[in-house]
Amino acid sequence: MSTHQITPTDEHLPPLELPPGALDASHPDYENTTGSDPPEIEPIEHRIRLDIIEAGGLLSHDTHAPTPLARQYIQRTLVDTYESEHRFFPSYDRLDDFLDEAPAFLTGELEPHYRELEQIRADRRKWYTELIPKNLDTIQGTADSLLPLHANTFHGVVIVDGNTDPIGYADGHDLDVDDVIREAQLDNHILPSEYGITLPAPLLVGEFASGSTYAFLPWSDAVVCGCPYKQTNKWAVMCKHELAAASCLATAHEGDVDAKYVLPIDVGVDIPQRARRFVSPTVAATHTSRKQR
Ligand SMILES: [Zn+2]
Repeated sequence: MSTHQITPTDEHLPPLELPPGALDASHPDYENTTGSDPPEIEPIEHRIRLDIIEAGGLLSHDTHAPTPLARQYIQRTLVDTYESEHRFFPSYDRLDDFLDEAPAFLTGELEPHYRELEQIRADRRKWYTELIPKNLDTIQGTADSLLPLHANTFHGVVIVDGNTDPIGYADGHDLDVDDVIREAQLDNHILPSEYGITLPAPLLVGEFASGSTYAFLPWSDAVVCGCPYKQTNKWAVMCKHELAAASCLATAHEGDVDAKYVLPIDVGVDIPQRARRFVSPTVAATHTSRKQR
């Protein structure tokens, strides 16, 4: 398996070695094998992250406010993205008439494929119109445990495997012992090595006000939270930790366009930007947040 290597500025840190699935889709070595690899971060996920940042965040104790600006942006993004996918499906207007006209053998051969395509399209519609709004309602409703936002810490660390003694590694590389963590110490549902990231690795760990510690995993041109909610609900576009991260970026880097899409390091070592990139640069360059029509 080919990997892509990023050398940190801090010479005490190991390189960040990424698998093909953690590259930009335009990279010649990019590869995501559906079924065996973790799912790609979908374009809609990047757009939602961006909408929250552009709207100034989406997390507050006030649940009775009118529809927050971020949700208005997201609603428009969901409709636009769903509509933009129409071109991937053939037109089925008058499908029943059309199948009746075909010879019986051909109808029999074609019908299951058309029905399957219709089902895929219906599932996609359900995702954009029901599941994603429900996902966002759920995480907004449970995100109280992550407030106030500044109580969540983004920690730049070196993640080592179970055979490596963190204290010995820290000593050997002139690092603070608090900045070297065994991956088994993380609360991640999926560990960095299970994502194909070579250990030791310089990664960003979120130490959340709720008491959990999750490494952000570099994947398809951004990072994804390793928590159970995000990793087990494949239809979920965001977890409360990513919501907190987006809301944090919305307020932390006003005026600094580059830093707006890259998570900060509050404490710890200076890990590469790639391990902190929260929004795909391609999506950031092409998506504009707009209110509902
Ligand atoms: Zn999470």
